[in-house]
Amino acid sequence: MIIYGARAVHLKSAQSKNTICPSCNTQGSSVISIYRKHAHIFWIPLFPISKNGISQCQHCKKVLEPKEMPEPIKREYVNLKNDAKGPVWQFVGLGIIAALISWGFYANAEDKKKESAYLQSPQTGDIYSYKVEGGHYSTFKIMSVTQDSIFISPNQYEINKIGRVHTIDKPENYSEILYGMSRIKVKEMYESGEIYGINR
Ligand SMILES: [Zn+2]
Repeated sequence: MIIYGARAVHLKSAQSKNTICPSCNTQGSSVISIYRKHAHIFWIPLFPISKNGISQCQHCKKVLEPKEMPEPIKREYVNLKNDAKGPVWQFVGLGIIAALISWGFYANAEDKKKESAYLQSPQTGDIYSYKVEGGHYSTFKIMSVTQDSIFISPNQYEINKIGRVHTIDKPENYSEILYGMSRIKVKEMYESGEIYGINR
């Protein structure tokens, strides 16, 4: 279950000295308070969604929403609201999300860098993941490397989920039969996306 919602944080309060309470006619009895709401998920603040407030008379306890405020109180309310800055921590969730996304991009770029190094200098035991016709995926293992070719042992199994291809990468799944492939052809297959992953 995902728990989410909104929470209000008190930013600022100020006594309004020159205004008159419309309810009990006392002067200077209204206190204006400003709050900022933020969305949260599992109580981690994500981002602010609104800033508003109320005024309350300290004498008769009458609470006024902005739309109920007489003009003078409303003016002070608007000024205080523009003045009140919310805390940065109300953005903390957005910061986490941005960090996760950039970490994802970074990790992916690092992966690609490694793979292109593996492609340049193949080694016995490297596992290549590739697309099989008909929307299936499989792997092959490099058994030996020469100047211009690699000799591979294909996996005898294939799988229809790209994310599960590691589950068929077991030593006993590789056949005894060796196939030779030119290293240029392997590079082409990688560049076209037919080979989409290399693990060492
Ligand atoms: Zn009052």
